[in-house]
Amino acid sequence: MYDHVFRAGAIGTMRLPHRIVMGAMHLNLETGDDDGAALAAFYAERAAAGAALIVTGGVAVNAVGAGGPGYGVIGDSRDRAALSAAVRAVHEHGGRIALQLFHAGRYARPGAREGAGHPVAPSPVHSAFARCTPRVMSPRDITTTIDDFAEGARAARALGFDAVEVMGSEGYLINQFTAPLTNLRDDAWGGDAERRRRFPLEVLHAVRAAVGRDFPVLFRISGNDLMAGGTPPDEVTALTVALAGAGADALSVGVGWHESPVPTVQSEVPAGTWAACAKALKRTLLAAGHTDVAVIAANRFPHLAQADEALSGGEVDFVAMARPFLADPQLVAKSAAGHPDRVNGCIACNEACIDRSFGTERVSCLVNPRAGHERQFPPPQPARHRSGPFGRYAVIGAGIAGLEAARTLAGLGHRVEVYEAAARAGGQFRLASQVPGKAEFAGTIHHHVRELRDAGVPLHLGRRVGGADVPELRSFDGVVLATGVLPAGLPLSGAELPHVRNYAQAFADPEALGGRIVIIGGGGIAIDLAHTLTTDPDAEVTPEEFLARHAVAGSTPHSGREPAVRDAPREVTLLRRGRRIGAGIGPSTRWVVMRNLRAAGVRMLTGVTYREITPTGVLLTDAEGTEHSLDADHVVLAVGQVPVDELAPLLREAGVPVVTAGGAAGTDGLNAVRATAEGLRAAHRI
Ligand code: SF4
Repeated sequence: MYDHVFRAGAIGTMRLPHRIVMGAMHLNLETGDDDGAALAAFYAERAAAGAALIVTGGVAVNAVGAGGPGYGVIGDSRDRAALSAAVRAVHEHGGRIALQLFHAGRYARPGAREGAGHPVAPSPVHSAFARCTPRVMSPRDITTTIDDFAEGARAARALGFDAVEVMGSEGYLINQFTAPLTNLRDDAWGGDAERRRRFPLEVLHAVRAAVGRDFPVLFRISGNDLMAGGTPPDEVTALTVALAGAGADALSVGVGWHESPVPTVQSEVPAGTWAACAKALKRTLLAAGHTDVAVIAANRFPHLAQADEALSGGEVDFVAMARPFLADPQLVAKSAAGHPDRVNGCIACNEACIDRSFGTERVSCLVNPRAGHERQFPPPQPARHRSGPFGRYAVIGAGIAGLEAARTLAGLGHRVEVYEAAARAGGQFRLASQVPGKAEFAGTIHHHVRELRDAGVPLHLGRRVGGADVPELRSFDGVVLATGVLPAGLPLSGAELPHVRNYAQAFADPEALGGRIVIIGGGGIAIDLAHTLTTDPDAEVTPEEFLARHAVAGSTPHSGREPAVRDAPREVTLLRRGRRIGAGIGPSTRWVVMRNLRAAGVRMLTGVTYREITPTGVLLTDAEGTEHSLDADHVVLAVGQVPVDELAPLLREAGVPVVTAGGAAGTDGLNAVRATAEGLRAAHRI
């Protein structure tokens, strides 16, 4: 199985046992006050489980290049100590680790790190991402920065790293030099194609000179900026060949910038979409005679199956997977043992990883809330290594919080029984799995249920636990109450009319909703429902269709235009009292879902006051105080949730230790990330 993955390979002088690289992820563990202990534990677990080569998150080569306050800086002695701890931990577990040399350029936040000053870039082109206009780099700034890359590489080798990767894509500083959009200079560092690629080449020359010929150097190149005004395709080709000539051992191929109008890593992007970029670069290298430079494909390889397929024709040499290693550190080990079906798959939600990496909160994972907290919550041990005392616990509710609690308790060696009122496990998370583009959510439920079955945990489906069951529950050592939520009602005249549904009823039978639909509510559930109602559920999008829909032709830079408005099966209107639709959706995803709604012709009205639901529609007052009547065949309420928690006081009264998790613990700020994290914590607290 996966014969192409499980073949030895090499990057320069470094032999690797297989073809999967753990791609760089910024974790917000890099600058903790724990001397790198959490960072080391995170990497160690992944090295132990067989990641061939781990690439660290970007470490800035100087303070002004730090992407945010949580970014390490190679010149900072504390950050170096943390990195050193990470290197030791990875080596102790038989792994290899490369340091990513990073400079954010105009993507840095002003004053992100002490002494950073104002962000710098080749030209003063405003960054919508960092919300600032950078200071122009002087020629002296440029040569000093090249020296900083070299010094960073030298430090990496001294710290014991096995390789370095120069970050030259995703719109960061080096990429800003190669793109006409952000390099408006007319001097030795810009003005024509050759001068635009001078900076990356000088950086590579300096890095190579600093570490010597025998030390592996990877360069992360942008295969397609996906930006109007991005690096032209012929200049990507020329840079590819020049980097190979300048001594790169491997080119890791990124796509897109943070400001790109094309989604690159969201769930709606078909798996393997960007492999074509890496393959094109490999062909370029082979045509130029650079047969010894490895090409690493990256982005949207959720499973080893897709990696194996990309590797199968020999058109790329390695595949970098990043988020899947957050979701399941055992990704490679399980697959190597012949059990890829036991991998806890990444669902590309970005909620606990990429969205957090833009701020300062520790990166983790919705489907694996242990990620980033490996010291606090050690991994489950095989039964023979566990030592008691073990207890017997009930988990009430098999939504995502209850499933997480149950699998954690079982992994700790306890006896567990799970009770679920519905006929199937999954709760609200199962609703999400019905949304087009979110089918992978069902895989998480399937994975967790399977883990419970493998652990011999009884899962009592269709078994509602009520107050009458409390005496029986006293036989357990404790209860995790994860009974979830119910849709909230709306105290509005007409809310009880027959054409009014709550969101759960709407998801249960979307086919029953036709014609014109008004959804009252503008949060994540309302948006998911609007998307579901306006999208053909059977429409599978291939990578080629996705690229065509987003006007990405081959390696041609993107035109920047929005996809055209398409025919939708229903006419949907979203109403919100507040000013912002989808306010709680993370920054990496919100713009994509909003654009999808616009493309489906969904009408969105904000700042409205609901007056009445009538048999034919909704009466409302708009933000200007004007009354309107909206015609609707169906009205759906998606106006929040109420916790199902009435068992908690009864259990406490009966003296049964109880911990609530997920919706049962309250609906403020409730989402699946909070729910699974609480499920994990509840299992350890009870
Ligand atoms: Fe994947 Fe979501 Fe976990 Fe990020 S938080 S690694 S996108 S499952």
